[in-house]
Amino acid sequence: MELTLRQTLARMLAHGQHSALDLARALLLTPREVEDHLTHLARSQRGRLRVEPARCRNCGHVFRDRRRLDAPGRCPRCRQEMVDGPWFSLALDSGVRK
Ligand SMILES: [Zn+2]
Repeated sequence: MELTLRQTLARMLAHGQHSALDLARALLLTPREVEDHLTHLARSQRGRLRVEPARCRNCGHVFRDRRRLDAPGRCPRCRQEMVDGPWFSLALDSGVRK
């Protein structure tokens, strides 16, 4: 049976952590489309979407208070465009089964 794009995305995230950029490449989507799918997934999965905040490779700044799910373009602290992440994963069955 063929999986929908969103099911494929959920399955990838259930198996490990992926950055928005990884997901865009793997699923042949634009960063904007990935953000839309992640926003929808965050709502439909009720808090099971785990977000590891983006980080600046240059100065180590962590984007903790960021609400949006796309990748930040530029670091507000050092102004470099060397931002990694954010990374996403999906926690399944609230830890009852592994
Ligand atoms: Zn920085």
